[in-house]
Amino acid sequence: MALPKSNTSVQLQITALKAVVGPDCEILTNSAEANSQEYAKRWTDIGRETPAAIVLPRTEEDVQKVVQWAVKSSIPFVVKSGGGSEWSTIGDDGLVIDLTHYSAIQVDAKARVVTIRGGVTQKEAAVRLAEEGLFTGEEHNRNGAPGSLTNDTDL
Ligand SMILES: Cc1cc2nc3c(=O)[nH]c(=O)nc-3n(C[C@H](O)[C@H](O)[C@H](O)COP(=O)(O)OP(=O)(O)OC[C@H]3O[C@@H](n4cnc5c(N)ncnc54)[C@H](O)[C@@H]3O)c2cc1C
Repeated sequence: MALPKSNTSVQLQITALKAVVGPDCEILTNSAEANSQEYAKRWTDIGRETPAAIVLPRTEEDVQKVVQWAVKSSIPFVVKSGGGSEWSTIGDDGLVIDLTHYSAIQVDAKARVVTIRGGVTQKEAAVRLAEEGLFTGEEHNRNGAPGSLTNDTDL
C-alpha cells in the first residue's frame, strides 16, 4: 500500500497544476485566506478536513485537465457540487474540485431533456425547468443537482 504523501510534496505538485489549467481556473492553496474559507464551506462542518487546495475550473476542458492531472500525479480528490454531503471531504494530501463556476442548464422542452453542468444546484434546475412548465422531484435548494443524482437515495 502506498504511503500518504506529505503536505509539502503535494503543495509542490500543485504548483505544477497551475501550468496545466487555463488562467481563469483559480487554485486556492492558503486555507487561512477568506476566499479559501468561503469555498471550503459545506452544509455541515462535521468531519470537514482542510484540503491541500481548492480548484475552481470554469470550463469542461479545465475540469478534464484537473482530473487527468490528479490521476496522473496520484493525488486524491473529491468533487464539490452543492456541498450537501457529509462524507465528501479530503485532507491535506488531496484536492477539492469545486464546480461552483462550472454551472449552466440547457433545456430541450420538446425532447424533455435537460443538460446540467456540475455546479448546478437543485433550486437552479427547478427554477429553469419551471420556466418550461416542467419540474423535478428534488427540492433541497442549495444541494447540487449532479451530487444528488449520484448520491441521493430518493432518485
Ligand atoms: C438538507 C438536506 C437534505 C437532504 N435530504 C436527502 C434525502 O431526502 N434523501 C437522500 O438520499 N439524501 C438527502 N440528502 C443528502 C444529499 O442529497 C446528498 O448528500 C447529495 O450528494 C448532495 O449533493 P451535493 O452536490 O450538494 O453534495 P456534494 O458534497 O457537493 O457532493 C456529494 C458527492 O456527489 C458527487 N458529485 C458531486 N458533484 C458531482 C458531479 N458533478 N459529477 C459527479 N459526481 C458528483 C461526488 O462524489 C461528491 O463527493 C440531503 C442533504 C441535505 C443537506
